[in-house]
Amino acid sequence: MAEKYYLKTYGCQMNELDGSQMGRLLARQGYAPTDDPEEASVILINTCSIREKASQKVYSDVGRFRSLKLKNPDLVLGVTGCQAQAEGVRLQKRFPYLDLVLGPDHTGRLPELVERVRREGGQHLAAVKLEKREEYRFLNLLPDEEEDAHKAFVTIMKGCDNFCSFCIVPFVRGREVCRDADEIVAEVRELSERGTQEVTLLGQNVNSYGVGRHARDPNALSFPRLLRRLAEETGIRRIRFTTSHPKDLSDELIEEFRVNAKLASHFHLPVQSGSNAVLERMYRGYTRDEYAAKARRLREARPDIALGTDLIVGFCGETEEEFQASMDLLEELRYDSVYSFVYSERPKTTAGLYFKDDVPEAVKHERLQRLQALQNRIGWEKNRSYEGKDLEVLVEGPSRSGDTYAGRSSQNHVVHFEGTDADVGKIVKVRVTHAGPNSLIGAKHD
Ligand code: SF4
Repeated sequence: MAEKYYLKTYGCQMNELDGSQMGRLLARQGYAPTDDPEEASVILINTCSIREKASQKVYSDVGRFRSLKLKNPDLVLGVTGCQAQAEGVRLQKRFPYLDLVLGPDHTGRLPELVERVRREGGQHLAAVKLEKREEYRFLNLLPDEEEDAHKAFVTIMKGCDNFCSFCIVPFVRGREVCRDADEIVAEVRELSERGTQEVTLLGQNVNSYGVGRHARDPNALSFPRLLRRLAEETGIRRIRFTTSHPKDLSDELIEEFRVNAKLASHFHLPVQSGSNAVLERMYRGYTRDEYAAKARRLREARPDIALGTDLIVGFCGETEEEFQASMDLLEELRYDSVYSFVYSERPKTTAGLYFKDDVPEAVKHERLQRLQALQNRIGWEKNRSYEGKDLEVLVEGPSRSGDTYAGRSSQNHVVHFEGTDADVGKIVKVRVTHAGPNSLIGAKHD
C-alpha cells in the first residue's frame, strides 16, 4: 500500500501552487495524499508569513503534530513556505523534533530531502535564497490526472524587487527571477492540449516580467508580449494573471486588453491606500491620481472589465483623514472586489524596523469594519448591474449547496446556475437573473 502524505497550505496562490507542486513531486515518488495526518508518513506545513496571525499558525501546527512524531519516530515532519524561509534555524531550535525546514526556492528538492531524513535522520534545512536566474529552477510539473485540470496556475516569475515598506515578501521570496518565455508558452500549450481552458499566470509583480534589469535576460519578452504569444501560439481559452504593481502597469499592457480577447475581463490592481502621504510611507511609487488614471484607462480599453484591489488600514501614522482618502477612493473607483486587512507589523521590513505601529488595534479594526461595510454596499450594487446580462462561465462543478452548478465568469464572479455534469470544465453562457452580495445566479442558455 502506498505511503501517505499530509500537506496543509496557507496563504496566497503562489503558495498554493508550491503546495500542489510538492504533492506532485511526492506522488511521483509513490506517495498518496491523505486528509488525515494520523495516516501520513510525511507531514508538511506549507506556511505564509504575510501577517503576524498567519505566521503564528506554524507554531500551533508543529506543536499539534509532536504527539504523532513521538508515536511514530519514522514520521517525516517538515515546514515549508515563507515562514520556513523567515525563521529557518530558529524553527529547528524551537522544535527539535522537526525534521525538515524548506524555503520556497528549494521546493524541487523535497523528494531528495525526505529520503535524506529517512536515511540519515537528524534535522535538515534548505533555505538559502536563490536569486540568480542561472541558479533558480522553475518547476514545470503538470497537474496529475486526478487534479481538475480545466484551470491551472502557471508561474512566470518568482520574488520581488519592490521592497514596499510593510511587506515581508522580498525577504522570504528573494529577488525577482523571470522564467523563460518559451518554457511558459510550452507549458500553457501542453495544458490546453490536455483540456485546460484557463490559466492564471503567477508572480509577485507580473508587470515587471521581462523589463528593467530582466530585459537583459536571454530571450527576454515584455509581459504584454508574453500574453500575446500565449494567445496566438496556444489553444488556451482564457488568461488571467496576478499580482500587478500599479507603478509597472504599462500603456502597452492596458492596450493589450483592447486587442487580446483571451485576456479575462478582470484585473487585480492592489492600491493599498487612497492617501498620497500613506502611499509615500509605504514606498509604493505612485500617487492616488496616477493610480486612478490607470484604472480609468483600463476601463476605457476594456469596458466590461471588473477591477479588484488590496487595501491596508491602520498603517503607521494613518490619520482619520488619510483613512477617509481610502474610503473616498472606493466611492470614486467603485471596485468589484476588495481584499482589506489591518496593518500587521512584519520583521525585517522598513516599517517594522523604523516606523512606529502607532494606530491602536481597536481603531484599526473599527476602520476596517467601516471600509468593508462601504465596499459590501458598492460590491452588491455592482453585482446588481449584471442582472439581465449574459456571462461566459467556466464551470467548476456542483455548488456547495449541491442543487446547482457553479463557475467563474470572465469578470471572476462566482455564478450559480442549473446545469449538469456535462457542463463541468466547459465555458457556458449564463444569463444573470439575480445578484447576491458575493455571487450571481442565472440560467444557462445557448
Ligand atoms: S510589490 Fe510590494 S507588496 Fe507586492 S510583493 Fe512586492 S514588496 Fe510586497
